[in-house]
Amino acid sequence: MNNKVVIIGCGNVGMSYAYALLNQRTNVQELVLIDLDTKRIEGEVMDLNHCLAFAPSRINITVGNYSDCKDANIVCIAAGANQNPGETRMDLINKNSKIFKKIVTEVMNNGFDGIFLIATNPLDIMTYLTWKYSKMPHYKIIGSGTSLDTARLRYMIGNELDINPKNIHAYVMGEHGDSEFVAWSNARVGLQSINEYLKKEDMDKICLNVKNAAYDIINRKGATYYGIGMCLVRITNAILGDENTIITVSSYDKTNDIFVGGPSIINKHGLRERIYLKLNEEEENMMMNSIDVIKKAINELED
Ligand code: NAD
Repeated sequence: MNNKVVIIGCGNVGMSYAYALLNQRTNVQELVLIDLDTKRIEGEVMDLNHCLAFAPSRINITVGNYSDCKDANIVCIAAGANQNPGETRMDLINKNSKIFKKIVTEVMNNGFDGIFLIATNPLDIMTYLTWKYSKMPHYKIIGSGTSLDTARLRYMIGNELDINPKNIHAYVMGEHGDSEFVAWSNARVGLQSINEYLKKEDMDKICLNVKNAAYDIINRKGATYYGIGMCLVRITNAILGDENTIITVSSYDKTNDIFVGGPSIINKHGLRERIYLKLNEEEENMMMNSIDVIKKAINELED
């Protein structure tokens, strides 16, 4: 059977994911794009298909509809409003939750039994709502979570130290939003503690830059999308390749009954398990604060 990915919502984020999929050697054989704006998507599919002569592997790319979800391995939802300059991710909650109710219901009515991969903001809430609306087991629902923030963190530390970000082992955890934090107590460069490399004030500066990265990009170019496109491909590969790879996605936290960013082992079933790091007291408090922010937002949701 072919590995099939359906993307619902093919704006900046959905198309960056599609383009990144095409440019990397993945296990995806079928890629289906769905959007309200069918005409534009027809153009996007033509444009992507014209890349195939130079792509690392062959992918069948088509404009689709919800019946395509039936035999899909992954349905990625990137539909909905994005932040305007000055808006927080949480400001999008009521608009996007209504869109999600329709989309997830439609996907499930068409017999989907694969893994949901969520990119729309506010990320942890949309991931939670996908779980509620789909009634699927929690392990089949993965949000991109703090994977993008973690990628930004690894780049910024690597840039500061002139060391390959692949050798920087550090996580951003919590809400993909203003209450996220860096778990510095667990951060390492190679196998050495980050304290050997960075002073407290450097860490604070990097943490602030990571938290403000989306605002800084949106103020300059209106939206962020290449980074999340690459993160979605990384998560896709972990799922389709049955990799058991650790990524800081938004996954189900049993203790708090919400979805929140933290290191999670990802394989073909979706979430294998969340890893509960030993945090210091300050980080533990920041995690609890983030969890409270997410819970409060869920409780205040309009019907
Ligand atoms: P965009 O406006 O460029 O694209 C959104 C697309 O969704 C549009 O093409 C629109 O037609 C489509 N859409 C809306 N309602 C739909 C529906 N009911 N069915 C099908 N398609 C529908 O926005 P974008 O920049 O691509 O951002 C999308 C979302 O991703 C936003 O919520 C944004 O905040 C979020 N985002 C998340 C991350 C992350 O790290 N998770 C990073 C960047 C952006």
